[in-house]
Amino acid sequence: MSSSVETRTSIVWDYAPAPESVDHVRLKDRYGLFVDGEFRDPIDGRYVSTINPATEDRLADVAFGGPEDVTAAIQTARSAAPKWAALADLERAKYLFRIARLIQERSRELAVLETMDGGKPLRESRDTDIPLAAAHFFHYAGWTDKLHYGVNAREVEPLGVVGQIVPWNFPLLMAAWKLAPALACGNVAILKPAETTPLTALLLAEICQEAELPPGVVTILPGDGATGAALVRADGIDKIAFTGSTAVGRDIQAALAGTGTPVTLELGGKSANVVFEDAALDQAVEGIVNGIFFNQGHVCCAGSRLLVQESVRDEVIAKLWQRMHRLRLGDPLDKNTDVGAINSAEQLERIEMLVAAGVQEGASRRTIECELPERGYWFAPTLFTDVSPAHRIAVEEIFGPVVSVLTFRTQAEAIEKANNSRYGLAAGIWTDKGSKAFEVARALKAGVVWQNTYNHFDPTAAFGGYKESGFGREGGPAGLRPYLRVVR
Ligand code: NAP
Ligand code: MG
Repeated sequence: MSSSVETRTSIVWDYAPAPESVDHVRLKDRYGLFVDGEFRDPIDGRYVSTINPATEDRLADVAFGGPEDVTAAIQTARSAAPKWAALADLERAKYLFRIARLIQERSRELAVLETMDGGKPLRESRDTDIPLAAAHFFHYAGWTDKLHYGVNAREVEPLGVVGQIVPWNFPLLMAAWKLAPALACGNVAILKPAETTPLTALLLAEICQEAELPPGVVTILPGDGATGAALVRADGIDKIAFTGSTAVGRDIQAALAGTGTPVTLELGGKSANVVFEDAALDQAVEGIVNGIFFNQGHVCCAGSRLLVQESVRDEVIAKLWQRMHRLRLGDPLDKNTDVGAINSAEQLERIEMLVAAGVQEGASRRTIECELPERGYWFAPTLFTDVSPAHRIAVEEIFGPVVSVLTFRTQAEAIEKANNSRYGLAAGIWTDKGSKAFEVARALKAGVVWQNTYNHFDPTAAFGGYKESGFGREGGPAGLRPYLRVVR
């Protein structure tokens, strides 16, 4: 422990292990592709294991969709599309409500499986990912008969068959962000989950069966980047919605340029979390911790660039460093764990590479001392000071539990530094002054700006980026627009 002063806040509690039971998870040994309302073998017979990144144990074998599977899936989706689009609005709503309620009913199982497949703490999958996934289906269920109100009273129609590609950091939640609005608008969807985290999407396929969703309305096509690339390039897709890295987003945009296929891209970020000297500093420190260590920093809108006003720099860093020692890293299934496993060996390698670059370029690294489990992929919470705006750790997305601290003197400098990024996804502002919060928020080029909070998500609020963070919005009425064609 860093502090020897015996105050109430310096007491370190010992926790007995509190692992969540995995007994209620009904995991099959292998999962096919979910096409036409049933699980099918892939045409070339290829299955690949998905593992638990906290233990490296195999969880299940999962079908890998190849190009022929993509073609077959599009065919069944196309034949299901007209009937789904023609269904009475409130009938479509009933299915979405059913899916939402089934997610709630199976929430414990989904949370445990999300944690096992991806490495995130159970506390997060249980309290954030799964409840928000259900909330998105509830929210968009309510929109089915009000679509034209969502788009300025215009007459609208669905686009048809939409292809949706999601990453591994919030697997079920990103699937819900994509599927719920698409279905509410009367489209049918083909979803490609990430290679390392396909399991909750496949459980969602079971939920679609349980909800008696008409076959072909939702298709789940697990696979890797090649499956996603085939989906993007296939004939018969009326829209692509993608969440993932800027590099792949660029590739998708290039592939679709000139085809007329609409596309929305939710990409990376290097979001600024700005702490002014008049902020409630203890509260701000909680927000900094939540902003960067939530989900091991595998968060597109993570507050990875901490901008602190110089007059409170030492105090904020001292409080943050002390608070970081309270973070409990370890078994993601333990209910007391704050920081779980890194999602994959590749992601761990990328974090280590960028952290090494930070040290090499001259920034000062501090990493909390804690025992890392022997198996699995782990990275302890890390803080960089003496960071210059040109350092790679200040510019590139690390997508790990690593925060880079920069300082500023004036409000104008804070705005300039916060906007000095090729990304523009999110930002945080910590201040006691309401006028300052609004003034700065207006000046920041970020899709979402949080004031005296961070990583706050709600299905009614639009989320999305500027610049290399992508375009298009998800959530709320704004999230309907990308899935509708305006007729009149
Ligand atoms: P990624 O490599 O871009 O992968 C995202 C998804 O695209 C995965 O399903 C991936 O499949 C698939 N994919 C890979 N190559 C493809 C290609 N050429 N064509 C079509 N699809 C392809 O990103 P990631 O490493 O999984 O995720 C981390 C990134 O996502 C971060 O940069 C993060 O900021 C961003 N992200 C953004 C948001 C947002 O809302 N803005 C949310 C979450 C994450 P495989 O995984 O099977 O390779
Ligand atoms: Mg996995």
